[in-house]
Amino acid sequence: MFRALVRYSLYAHVIMACACFFALSCSAQQPASRKPHHSENGFKNMYDNERPSFFDFLKWRIGRIGKKIPGPDDYHFPLAKNDPVFLKNNRSKTTMTWIGHATVLLQLDGKNILTDPHFSERASPVQWAGPKRVIQPGVSIEDLPPIDIVVISHDHYDSLDSGSIKRLRDREGGDQTVFFIPLGLKEWFANRGITRVVESDLWEQHKESNLTVTAVPVKHWSKRTPFSQNTTLWAGWIVASDRFRFFFCGDTGYSPVFREIGERYGPFDLAAIPIGAYEPRWFMRHHHVNPEEAVQIHLDVHSKKSVAIHWGTFILTDEPLDEPPVKLEQVLRAKDLSSEDFLVLRHGETILLQPQ
Ligand code: ZN
Repeated sequence: MFRALVRYSLYAHVIMACACFFALSCSAQQPASRKPHHSENGFKNMYDNERPSFFDFLKWRIGRIGKKIPGPDDYHFPLAKNDPVFLKNNRSKTTMTWIGHATVLLQLDGKNILTDPHFSERASPVQWAGPKRVIQPGVSIEDLPPIDIVVISHDHYDSLDSGSIKRLRDREGGDQTVFFIPLGLKEWFANRGITRVVESDLWEQHKESNLTVTAVPVKHWSKRTPFSQNTTLWAGWIVASDRFRFFFCGDTGYSPVFREIGERYGPFDLAAIPIGAYEPRWFMRHHHVNPEEAVQIHLDVHSKKSVAIHWGTFILTDEPLDEPPVKLEQVLRAKDLSSEDFLVLRHGETILLQPQ
C-alpha cells in the first residue's frame, strides 16, 4: 500500500512537471505581438540585436582605469552668436539651430520643433553627479520661441531630461506643446502633468497641423532604472511639410534599417545624424555610430544636407570630445563629399535652409 502511494505520488510529480514545462514552453513561443520589434519583455531592434553584456560593461569601465581621459574643463568650444528675437518672431523662414548634443530647434512652415531637449547641467538622474556639460546650451530655454512640437528619441538621460521637460511645461504657452514619444513613455509624461502626447509605435504617422510626424526604427536600446531595460521603445523621427522633409536620427548604432528608411521616406532636405560617443568600438558599435557610419546613414537615407549632433557636449565615452568632427572631415573627403553636405555647426549656430 505504502509503495503504491509513493509510486502514485512520483507519477503525479512527473506529470505536473511535464505540464508546467509544456505550458511554459508554449507561452514562451507565443509572441506578444506580430511586430518584429516587439518582444515578451518589451522591445528589440529590427535587425541585429547583439548587444554587450553587463560583464562587457565592467570590462570597459575597468579598462578605463589609469587612462588619461580629459575632463569637462579641458574643452573650450566656441559658442555661436544667434538671434533669439529673430527666432522668436520667425514664422516664415526654414531654419535649424544646433543647441547642443541631440537638441535641435527646427523652424518649419511656421512651426517650432525641438528634438531631445536638454538644457540641464548634467545628463544624469541627479544634478550632483553624472556627465556634466562642457558648454552651455546654444539657446537658453527662456530665449526659445514658443514650441509647437517636441520629439523624443528614447529614455536615456542625455535624451530625455526631466528638468528640461518640466521647464518647457512651465513656460508661458508650454501647455500647448505636443510631445511625440515612443511607446511606453506616456506614463512618464503623465506623472509630470503632461498629457498632450502622441505615443507612437514605429512606422506610425500622425498629422499635426500642417506637418506629418513619423516614428522610424533606429538601432539602440532603452534603460532608465535598473529594472527598465528595453521596456520603452526608441525611435528616430521624420517631420515633414509639403515641401520639406527632416529626419532626426536620435541615438543609434549602424543598421540596414537606414536603407529601408531612405527607400520609404527619402530623400530628405535635412537630417540630424549623431557623430560622437563611439569609443571603444568593440563596446559602443552596438548602439552608437562613428563618423564613418554617420556618413553611411547620410547616404542610405538620401539626405541632401546633414548636420552633426550627439557630440561636443557631454563626455559619455572614451574618444576626445573634439575628435568626431576631425574624423568626419576625413571620411567626407575620402567619399568625395564636402563639409557642406554634412555640416558641423558651432553650439548655438543657426542655418537658414530655404531663404524666401
Ligand atoms: Zn541612448
